[in-house]
Amino acid sequence: MVSTNPANSSRSLPSPAEVHKRVRSTFDTGRTRDVAWRKTQLRSLKRMLEESEAELLEALRLDLGKPGVEAFITDIAFVRSEIDLTLKHLDAWMKPERVALPVKQQPGRARIHRDPLGAVLIIGPWNYPVQLIGAPLVGAIAGGNTAVLKPSEVSAHTSRALARLLPLYIDADAFAVVEGGVEETTALLAERWDHIFYTGNATVARIVMTAAAQYLTPVTLELGGKSPVIIDESANLDVAARRIAWGKYLNAGQTCIAPDYCLVDRRVEGPFLTRLHDAVKQFYGTNPIHSPDYGRIINDQHFTRLSRLLDGEGAGEVAYGGGRDEAARYFAPTALRNTDPSSSIMNEEIFGPILPTIVVDNVDAAIEFVTAREKPLALYVFAQDHKVSDRVVHETTSGGVCVNATLFHVAVPTLPFGGIGESGMGAYHGRASFDTFTHAKSVLSRPTRPDPSIAYPPYKGIKAKLLKKLL
Ligand code: NAD
Repeated sequence: MVSTNPANSSRSLPSPAEVHKRVRSTFDTGRTRDVAWRKTQLRSLKRMLEESEAELLEALRLDLGKPGVEAFITDIAFVRSEIDLTLKHLDAWMKPERVALPVKQQPGRARIHRDPLGAVLIIGPWNYPVQLIGAPLVGAIAGGNTAVLKPSEVSAHTSRALARLLPLYIDADAFAVVEGGVEETTALLAERWDHIFYTGNATVARIVMTAAAQYLTPVTLELGGKSPVIIDESANLDVAARRIAWGKYLNAGQTCIAPDYCLVDRRVEGPFLTRLHDAVKQFYGTNPIHSPDYGRIINDQHFTRLSRLLDGEGAGEVAYGGGRDEAARYFAPTALRNTDPSSSIMNEEIFGPILPTIVVDNVDAAIEFVTAREKPLALYVFAQDHKVSDRVVHETTSGGVCVNATLFHVAVPTLPFGGIGESGMGAYHGRASFDTFTHAKSVLSRPTRPDPSIAYPPYKGIKAKLLKKLL
């Protein structure tokens, strides 16, 4: 495995173009098509996660102040589960799928083969930097591809750890890590890829898609946005509060599918906010800065951005939290009430531990609010009245939905994970990853006999009439 690190700017490191060339020629050897090779790579990747757990957890702590247990579950164990599931099913997924052939097209055999795509580019963000490079990599390996991985420079310690570790475990000529930021990513995007898998914000997604258009390269875009939570009058408020607080404040709110804001039925607003605060105290104590289970904001730039949103006009009253310590990049778990829908905090993805709440009269108003905005990556509804949750599921569009839960759908390997519209395109996880990183190739085989002349020109007389009847 090759890795380039511009920060070291060593002359011996290959350029992005050279790395691209190397993984492409490895793909051309055909060795990645072999199922045994794919499984070896997956097992080695799993071994890396096990043997280097401490190094990766330390990098995540340095980057995001990630609590150990949280980092283990959301970054390391997540990728390991994807590997286990893939190893279990890969043979079955790779088997050509026989499909029916209409009688008039018989005799013959129709099958769908899953072809590797070739050399793929995977660009990751900083918030779950092991998971969001590792999980797409599992899909790329399973699909029989080679890949260049570009971790986020923002989570620099994890990027460095991945660049150091991966070459020790997986095929050096088939997989490469290119470290760096805009310059290196731009250089990579100038190459011709067979697929680009990008996770990050929608502004850069447009740059990625524009670069991909040059070669008609297909893209998967895993983006973010504002994921709403609807709290119905019928909700179990204790459970809702706990699950929302957990989903919101995990990784200090820096989760693509974190609840972004709450639309709460006005009849339960007061008790809901009280229970939410109780849940925060239960999880992180009265002063979460001392909690070993609460993370930190990634960098000063994001800290300032969050402060601007919280202090901005129309953000609303602080229901609890609001405390900050800039030097420690600590931002307290915070909730707001009476937030103005036209405020800045309601018009950009928050991506931090601030939860605005807006009261609504009923579920109709909540649905109207959601459908008037961009299609979110996730949507959460808390209701014990099934009619209400069913209406939300059927009358709104989003990447995914959880009823009476937050975040958990991302960890269900049988559910494809992805966005729609401004929250992304394409999906992955489990079988969906294999599908994303392979081409469904239609293969039709026909015997050479019979070969009736009716199928061929000239079409006239009885032959033409018969053909019209048959088709
Ligand atoms: P980021 O700043 O790390 O950027 C993502 C990647 O894009 C990085 O590798 C970076 O080097 C590259 N990049 C940045 N600017 C570029 C440019 N001008 N040209 C080319 N490449 C460039 O991460 P981010 O975008 O701040 O990540 C947060 C966003 O990602 C949020 O919107 C979040 O919701 C979303 N996200 C989505 C998912 C998902 O699975 N759907 C997961 C995590 C994060």
